[in-house]
Amino acid sequence: MGFQLEYRTRPIEMERFRRTYQDRERFLACCRECPRYEARWSCPPLSFDVDDFLAPYAWANLLCARIFLDDGTIGAAGTPEKMKTMGWNIVSQVKFELEERLREMEERVPGSLSLSSGGCHRCDPCAREAGQPCRQPDQMRYSLDAFGFDLTAITQDLFGIEILWCRERLPDYFTLIHGILSAAPVPGEVWEAAGLGDGKTTDAGGKGA
Ligand code: SF4
Repeated sequence: MGFQLEYRTRPIEMERFRRTYQDRERFLACCRECPRYEARWSCPPLSFDVDDFLAPYAWANLLCARIFLDDGTIGAAGTPEKMKTMGWNIVSQVKFELEERLREMEERVPGSLSLSSGGCHRCDPCAREAGQPCRQPDQMRYSLDAFGFDLTAITQDLFGIEILWCRERLPDYFTLIHGILSAAPVPGEVWEAAGLGDGKTTDAGGKGA
Protein backbone atom coordinates (compact mmCIF):
# COMPACT_ATOMS: atom_id res chain seq x y z
CA MET A 1 0.00 0.00 0.00
CA GLY A 2 1.53 3.28 -1.05
CA PHE A 3 0.70 6.61 0.47
CA GLN A 4 2.26 9.86 1.53
CA LEU A 5 1.47 11.86 4.64
CA GLU A 6 1.20 15.59 5.05
CA TYR A 7 0.88 17.18 8.48
CA ARG A 8 -0.56 20.54 9.43
CA THR A 9 -0.84 21.95 12.93
CA ARG A 10 -3.04 24.72 14.36
CA PRO A 11 -3.36 25.96 17.94
CA ILE A 12 -6.73 27.41 18.95
CA GLU A 13 -7.90 28.81 22.29
CA MET A 14 -10.14 26.29 24.02
CA GLU A 15 -12.87 28.84 24.65
CA ARG A 16 -13.09 29.68 20.93
CA PHE A 17 -12.68 26.04 19.94
CA ARG A 18 -15.62 24.96 22.05
CA ARG A 19 -17.81 27.94 21.18
CA THR A 20 -17.24 27.52 17.44
CA TYR A 21 -16.92 23.79 16.90
CA GLN A 22 -18.57 21.89 19.75
CA ASP A 23 -22.18 20.80 19.49
CA ARG A 24 -22.64 17.81 21.73
CA GLU A 25 -26.36 17.30 21.14
CA ARG A 26 -26.01 17.26 17.37
CA PHE A 27 -23.00 14.97 17.14
CA LEU A 28 -23.90 12.66 19.98
CA ALA A 29 -27.10 11.90 18.09
CA CYS A 30 -24.87 10.63 15.25
CA CYS A 31 -22.71 8.67 17.70
CA ARG A 32 -25.77 6.79 18.94
CA GLU A 33 -25.98 5.19 15.48
CA CYS A 34 -22.38 3.97 15.70
CA PRO A 35 -21.59 0.41 16.93
CA ARG A 36 -18.92 1.89 19.21
CA TYR A 37 -21.53 3.88 21.18
CA GLU A 38 -21.53 2.62 24.77
CA ALA A 39 -19.18 -0.13 23.59
CA ARG A 40 -15.76 1.57 23.93
CA TRP A 41 -14.50 3.75 26.77
CA SER A 42 -13.00 6.21 24.27
CA CYS A 43 -16.45 6.92 22.83
CA PRO A 44 -19.76 8.38 24.03
CA PRO A 45 -21.41 8.45 26.38
CA LEU A 46 -18.39 9.68 28.31
CA SER A 47 -18.26 8.67 31.94
CA PHE A 48 -17.27 12.11 33.30
CA ASP A 49 -18.32 15.74 33.21
CA VAL A 50 -16.97 17.19 29.94
CA ASP A 51 -16.74 20.77 31.26
CA ASP A 52 -14.67 19.64 34.23
CA PHE A 53 -12.53 17.44 32.02
CA LEU A 54 -11.66 20.24 29.57
CA ALA A 55 -11.33 23.02 32.15
CA PRO A 56 -7.57 22.62 32.80
CA TYR A 57 -6.72 23.12 29.13
CA ALA A 58 -6.66 26.64 27.70
CA TRP A 59 -5.51 25.52 24.25
CA ALA A 60 -6.37 22.81 21.76
CA ASN A 61 -3.40 22.12 19.50
CA LEU A 62 -4.80 20.37 16.47
CA LEU A 63 -3.01 18.10 14.05
CA CYS A 64 -4.46 17.33 10.63
CA ALA A 65 -2.85 14.38 8.85
CA ARG A 66 -3.69 14.06 5.18
CA ILE A 67 -3.02 10.62 3.70
CA PHE A 68 -2.48 10.82 -0.07
CA LEU A 69 -3.05 7.47 -1.76
CA ASP A 70 -1.03 6.54 -4.84
CA ASP A 71 -2.72 5.44 -8.05
CA GLY A 72 -1.68 1.80 -7.60
CA THR A 73 -3.34 1.61 -4.21
CA ILE A 74 -6.54 3.22 -5.45
CA GLY A 75 -6.58 0.89 -8.47
CA ALA A 76 -5.97 -2.23 -6.36
CA ALA A 77 -9.07 -1.55 -4.27
CA GLY A 78 -11.40 -2.64 -7.05
CA THR A 79 -14.31 -3.98 -5.00
CA PRO A 80 -16.32 -2.51 -2.11
CA GLU A 81 -14.84 -5.15 0.20
CA LYS A 82 -11.27 -4.33 -0.81
CA MET A 83 -11.98 -0.61 -0.49
CA LYS A 84 -13.22 -1.15 3.05
CA THR A 85 -10.31 -3.40 4.08
CA MET A 86 -7.55 -1.41 2.42
CA GLY A 87 -9.00 1.92 3.55
CA TRP A 88 -9.18 0.76 7.16
CA ASN A 89 -5.68 -0.75 7.04
CA ILE A 90 -4.19 2.51 5.79
CA VAL A 91 -6.15 4.79 8.11
CA SER A 92 -5.61 2.63 11.19
CA GLN A 93 -1.87 2.37 10.53
CA VAL A 94 -1.61 6.16 10.52
CA LYS A 95 -4.02 6.62 13.42
CA PHE A 96 -2.08 4.21 15.68
CA GLU A 97 1.23 5.82 14.81
CA LEU A 98 -0.12 9.32 15.51
CA GLU A 99 -1.55 8.18 18.84
CA GLU A 100 1.88 6.88 19.79
CA ARG A 101 3.68 10.05 18.78
CA LEU A 102 1.20 12.31 20.56
CA ARG A 103 1.43 10.25 23.74
CA GLU A 104 5.19 10.75 23.55
CA MET A 105 4.64 14.49 23.00
CA GLU A 106 2.65 14.68 26.25
CA GLU A 107 5.93 14.09 28.10
CA ARG A 108 7.44 17.18 26.49
CA VAL A 109 4.39 19.36 27.20
CA PRO A 110 3.71 19.35 30.96
CA GLY A 111 0.08 18.91 31.91
CA SER A 112 -1.02 18.06 28.37
CA LEU A 113 -3.33 15.34 27.11
CA SER A 114 -3.71 14.05 23.58
CA LEU A 115 -6.94 13.18 21.81
CA SER A 116 -7.32 10.77 18.93
CA SER A 117 -9.37 10.32 15.80
CA GLY A 118 -12.16 7.79 16.18
CA GLY A 119 -12.56 5.12 18.81
CA CYS A 120 -9.94 3.10 20.66
CA HIS A 121 -9.03 -0.30 19.18
CA ARG A 122 -6.39 -1.43 21.63
CA CYS A 123 -8.40 -4.46 22.82
CA ASP A 124 -10.89 -6.69 21.04
CA PRO A 125 -13.46 -6.64 22.43
CA CYS A 126 -13.27 -3.48 24.52
CA ALA A 127 -13.75 -4.14 28.24
CA ARG A 128 -16.73 -1.78 28.21
CA GLU A 129 -18.79 -4.42 26.41
CA ALA A 130 -18.54 -6.57 29.53
CA GLY A 131 -19.07 -3.62 31.86
CA GLN A 132 -15.43 -3.78 32.96
CA PRO A 133 -13.05 -0.81 33.46
CA CYS A 134 -10.66 0.17 30.66
CA ARG A 135 -7.73 -2.28 30.57
CA GLN A 136 -5.18 0.30 29.40
CA PRO A 137 -6.26 3.68 30.78
CA ASP A 138 -2.70 5.01 30.58
CA GLN A 139 -2.62 4.28 26.83
CA MET A 140 -6.22 4.90 25.77
CA ARG A 141 -6.99 8.40 24.50
CA TYR A 142 -10.48 9.77 23.91
CA SER A 143 -11.58 10.70 20.43
CA LEU A 144 -12.30 14.31 19.51
CA ASP A 145 -15.66 13.10 18.22
CA ALA A 146 -16.60 11.91 21.69
CA PHE A 147 -16.70 15.53 22.89
CA GLY A 148 -19.05 16.55 20.09
CA PHE A 149 -16.52 18.48 17.98
CA ASP A 150 -17.43 19.12 14.37
CA LEU A 151 -14.53 17.51 12.53
CA THR A 152 -15.77 18.44 9.08
CA ALA A 153 -15.95 22.15 9.96
CA ILE A 154 -12.59 21.99 11.77
CA THR A 155 -10.93 20.37 8.76
CA GLN A 156 -12.39 22.91 6.37
CA ASP A 157 -12.11 26.10 8.46
CA LEU A 158 -8.84 25.59 10.28
CA PHE A 159 -6.94 23.57 7.69
CA GLY A 160 -8.61 24.56 4.42
CA ILE A 161 -9.11 20.91 3.49
CA GLU A 162 -12.24 19.28 2.13
CA ILE A 163 -13.00 15.84 3.54
CA LEU A 164 -13.29 13.21 0.80
CA TRP A 165 -15.25 9.97 1.14
CA CYS A 166 -15.09 6.50 -0.42
CA ARG A 167 -17.67 6.26 -3.17
CA GLU A 168 -17.02 4.18 -6.31
CA ARG A 169 -13.32 4.12 -5.42
CA LEU A 170 -10.92 5.05 -2.66
CA PRO A 171 -10.57 8.84 -2.41
CA ASP A 172 -7.39 10.67 -3.41
CA TYR A 173 -6.75 11.28 0.29
CA PHE A 174 -8.05 10.58 3.77
CA THR A 175 -7.87 13.09 6.63
CA LEU A 176 -7.43 12.46 10.35
CA ILE A 177 -7.73 15.07 13.11
CA HIS A 178 -5.85 14.48 16.35
CA GLY A 179 -5.00 16.98 19.05
CA ILE A 180 -3.13 17.72 22.21
CA LEU A 181 -4.76 19.80 24.94
CA SER A 182 -2.47 22.05 26.97
CA ALA A 183 -2.18 25.18 29.10
CA ALA A 184 -0.32 27.09 26.35
CA PRO A 185 0.16 26.72 22.59
CA VAL A 186 2.52 23.87 21.73
CA PRO A 187 5.65 25.41 20.15
CA GLY A 188 6.48 24.53 16.57
CA GLU A 189 9.79 22.96 17.62
CA VAL A 190 7.92 20.42 19.78
CA TRP A 191 5.83 19.37 16.78
CA GLU A 192 9.01 19.23 14.71
CA ALA A 193 10.78 17.06 17.27
CA ALA A 194 7.87 14.61 17.07
CA GLY A 195 8.20 14.50 13.27
CA LEU A 196 4.85 16.25 12.92
CA GLY A 197 5.87 19.78 12.02
CA ASP A 198 3.44 22.00 10.13
CA GLY A 199 3.77 21.35 6.39
CA LYS A 200 5.94 18.26 6.85
CA THR A 201 5.45 15.38 4.42
CA THR A 202 6.58 11.78 4.81
CA ASP A 203 6.46 8.54 2.86
CA ALA A 204 4.17 5.63 3.71
CA GLY A 205 4.09 4.87 7.42
CA GLY A 206 5.43 8.28 8.34
CA LYS A 207 9.05 7.14 8.29
CA GLY A 208 10.26 9.27 5.40
CA ALA A 209 12.01 12.62 5.28
S1 SF4 B 1 -7.81 0.29 25.92
FE1 SF4 B 1 -9.11 -1.52 25.59
S2 SF4 B 1 -10.59 -1.43 27.27
FE2 SF4 B 1 -9.70 0.65 27.09
S3 SF4 B 1 -11.07 1.77 25.69
FE3 SF4 B 1 -9.43 0.86 24.46
S4 SF4 B 1 -10.31 -1.07 23.72
FE4 SF4 B 1 -11.55 -0.43 25.49
